[in-house]
Amino acid sequence: MPEPVRVLSVASECAPLVKTGGLADVVGALPGALAGHAVEMRVLLPAYRGLAGRLRGPERISLPISGNGAVELIVGTADGLALILLDAPELYDREGGPYVQPGGGDWPDNAARFGLLARVGARIAAGGLAGWVPDAVHVHDWQAALVPVYLRAVEEGGPPTLLTIHNIAFQGIYPAGFLATLGLPRSVWRTEGGVEFWGHVGFLKGGLAMADRISTVSAAYAEELTSPAFGLGLDGLLRARAGVFRGILNGIDMAVWDPANDPHIAAPFSAQRPAGKARSRTELAERFGLEPPPGPLFVVVSRMTRQKGLDLLLEALPALVDRGAALAVLGSGERDLEAGFTAAAAAYRGHVGVVTGYDEPLSHLCQGGGDAILIPSRFEPCGLTQLYGLRYGTLPVAARTGGLGDTVIDATPMAVRSKAATGVLHAPDSADALARAIDRACDLFADRSVWRQMRRTAMKQDVSWDASAADYAGLYREMVAA
Ligand code: ADP
Repeated sequence: MPEPVRVLSVASECAPLVKTGGLADVVGALPGALAGHAVEMRVLLPAYRGLAGRLRGPERISLPISGNGAVELIVGTADGLALILLDAPELYDREGGPYVQPGGGDWPDNAARFGLLARVGARIAAGGLAGWVPDAVHVHDWQAALVPVYLRAVEEGGPPTLLTIHNIAFQGIYPAGFLATLGLPRSVWRTEGGVEFWGHVGFLKGGLAMADRISTVSAAYAEELTSPAFGLGLDGLLRARAGVFRGILNGIDMAVWDPANDPHIAAPFSAQRPAGKARSRTELAERFGLEPPPGPLFVVVSRMTRQKGLDLLLEALPALVDRGAALAVLGSGERDLEAGFTAAAAAYRGHVGVVTGYDEPLSHLCQGGGDAILIPSRFEPCGLTQLYGLRYGTLPVAARTGGLGDTVIDATPMAVRSKAATGVLHAPDSADALARAIDRACDLFADRSVWRQMRRTAMKQDVSWDASAADYAGLYREMVAA
């Protein structure tokens, strides 16, 4: 076993405690995945309402912060994770989501909420906590991106930092006046190498400028982010930092997502014994008010946003129904998309079914019972639902973008012949291309032996954290050695 490395992870979400998307899954999975690589990871998280009560062996620590008195931390474990909760009730103990108020709309004090998270992360990184001194810091997305900035500008040193971009669409951009509120010195107000971003404070921008290393969640997304179409104003900075920027693919929690042992599906199944999947298909159809279709039963499990391309799916729906396929949609998000699918379910009764809301158990049944999962994203940093789909033999029909293209092997004639195909890929941002991909999936489904072979190949693909955890562990060691 190599020398142990201590890593502080700083994030705004961590599954299973608090989750709005894939970020939480990654933050929650990494500590366990890295334990086998002699990496000891602790996660710093805001003490959102109810979280402190879930800690085992909680211990309160008061941590002095320069110019800010002290903050209260609660250290303990939950669900096998070593956690440090930042207990600032005036910022985090409230009804509603981590970012959004109960009635919708971002919390007006998000800059202060996540500024403090980063500031405390930097303090722990630089000074340690009760004798635990991290060798490296891994921060996630804009909410934690100021950690490297505080380390440089306030702590004046500390361990090396890695900033991971899970989704560049969220950047944490605030008026220039916030600089003082954040307790950051004027010296960081620079375009080159600082937090200034078009006259605003850019949390993610500052982090990308000052982190020692940068990563994102697939090699393809890393490449895409250096182009103006995907980089959303940060592509130039990422091009300049290309030498320290790379992609590391996400894995999935193989214990939580295991068709041979999943309490939320109708019967266990595996690549060797696929028969049980049919029972989940029947149950899934029933739950969504669908007649079991002669064609494929497609599923969608997704946030309902433009990013996910679900407006394109609404356009392509007639083609799907015409082919004798059916569709079960589980998702929530933008009102017009929710309304669009609700209307489609009424128009195509028995062929399209919708459940609006966030329902983890039902998402397992969708993966367990679906024949194929539709993911027509306009961009997709890594994507997790196609990985679950592969593991459950629910073949991804997905846009060729970001991590989707890196993890799904398109069923070209050659890939089908060589038994390598695991799904269908299509050009992003086009309802026509999506409709043609659905058509192609229906043709493949009709050829039972081809579909069965694709399912076998998909279910055997390694979608675990094994390879990526080794990559992260190697990267931390490289950072520590540098
Ligand atoms: P993103 O992080 O952009 O939302 P990912 O595919 O990386 O997309 O991760 C989405 C995660 O959220 C997956 O674990 C998926 O199963 C889950 N998910 C999304 N919508 C729902 C929903 N309505 N109900 C249950 N789980 C959902």
